[in-house]
Amino acid sequence: MQRARGNELNDSELWMAVLTRVRALVSPKEYDTWFTKLGFKRDGDRAVVVVPNRFFADWIDDNYRHLLDHAVAKTLGDGASLAFEVLDTPPLTAPARSGKLSPSRLPDSLSPRYSFDSFVVGPCNELAHAACRAVAERPGEQYNPLFLYGGAGLGKTHLISSVGNWVVQHFPTMRVVFGSSEAFTNELIKAVRFDGITAFQEKYREVDCLLLDDIQFLAGRERTQEEFFHTFNALYDTGKQIVVTSDQFPRDIKGLERRLRSRFEWGLIADLQPPDEETKVAILTAKAGGRGITLSRKVAFFLARQPNSSVREIEGYLNRIIAVSQLQEVEVTLDMAQRVLGPLLANRRLSVKQVIKATADHFGIKTGDLLSSKKSREVSHPRQLAMFLARRHTNASFPEIGLAFGGKDHSTAVHAVKRVEALLRNSSEVRGQVQAVEKLLFDAREVGDAWLSDGGINDFGRATR
Ligand code: ADP
Ligand code: MG
Repeated sequence: MQRARGNELNDSELWMAVLTRVRALVSPKEYDTWFTKLGFKRDGDRAVVVVPNRFFADWIDDNYRHLLDHAVAKTLGDGASLAFEVLDTPPLTAPARSGKLSPSRLPDSLSPRYSFDSFVVGPCNELAHAACRAVAERPGEQYNPLFLYGGAGLGKTHLISSVGNWVVQHFPTMRVVFGSSEAFTNELIKAVRFDGITAFQEKYREVDCLLLDDIQFLAGRERTQEEFFHTFNALYDTGKQIVVTSDQFPRDIKGLERRLRSRFEWGLIADLQPPDEETKVAILTAKAGGRGITLSRKVAFFLARQPNSSVREIEGYLNRIIAVSQLQEVEVTLDMAQRVLGPLLANRRLSVKQVIKATADHFGIKTGDLLSSKKSREVSHPRQLAMFLARRHTNASFPEIGLAFGGKDHSTAVHAVKRVEALLRNSSEVRGQVQAVEKLLFDAREVGDAWLSDGGINDFGRATR
């Protein structure tokens, strides 16, 4: 059995040793923001890092996990594993009305890192961004409520937090409450249990700007919805701003009361779509830049082209590359990025034939039609869409895509991708089609569905059935 190093040190000495290593690897600002608020204890072979709240845990897990793993292994020995423990679910905080502009005015759960400045605007999020700006600049006056919806990792929390940070900075007397709907629920439950419901109601009804993230968590919680409904009305009637986010359109949230749903539809509903390649590149470049790293276009495109639509995922890749670069003191190059991410990406790649199969299934046509040269719209549109998806979700080049679609020229594939990209900007129908095929692809990947292994097409792009 491997004997852990550092057994002779007590917890706080151990933690100091871990932090010393971490400090060498992050900027002073990052260190102050993220590492000075942590606690530490040992639990057998586990190193338990105690974090103030869930947000902290997620952030550190996403961004500094590798550094911490490394520092802990170096200090405690390779056998040590790392775990997080959340101190408490923080209540949603509303700063005092008379509060001066200071960091303490920030609601605890609101991360100062999420600002409009650090948000990259592209065709996929233009409307949501503009709406949030407008609301932040004139709370309660324009779009009320503002309802943001979009898939996981597309920037909802970033945008709603940007509203909060902006209002806190520019309207020192306004009371801003920001938090997850889960936190709202927990706080309500506590209030009910400890007879604090009046205080709870007073607190929420005195808010100038209520920002509730992930409203879909209220689904099925009747008591919380009821309380939220009254809060909503009180704020709305007095012209106070309400912003909520959700991973679904109001009508599609099952278990959400009709009266709430209809209120969400009173204001503006803005969606976030998966970013196109250029926007992803811009986001990656900005994120790397924020950490003092210049990302070459090659590396940025390599990451942006990975078959994932979520920003969070590609950001995770970036973080991993940066961590390795810092730990091993190597430069970030395309080779290096491929080496570091290779094992991770291998099982996420899709093949062109899987894309063809899923597209054919969705449109109810034969895979053979997609590989044919038929020009009718019923076939040519799905074919172009499939080529676009092949470009997005596989590592195939344009010539390879052309080949896989029954031996077509690469320019056919280029043209198809351009056309679908243009359609995506203007046609919600086409956006829906893309999402539906992607859902087929990803659902199947998750359950390891057998049909994924054989798209009914052989490797040379000929139909086998
Ligand atoms: P969601 O709440 O929709 O699941 P988040 O707001 O948590 O997504 O975003 C996930 C990560 O992606 C965050 O680190 C966020 O900063 C980043 N991100 C998403 N969209 C953008 C964008 N347009 N510009 C900059 N960063 C973005
Ligand atoms: Mg979120």
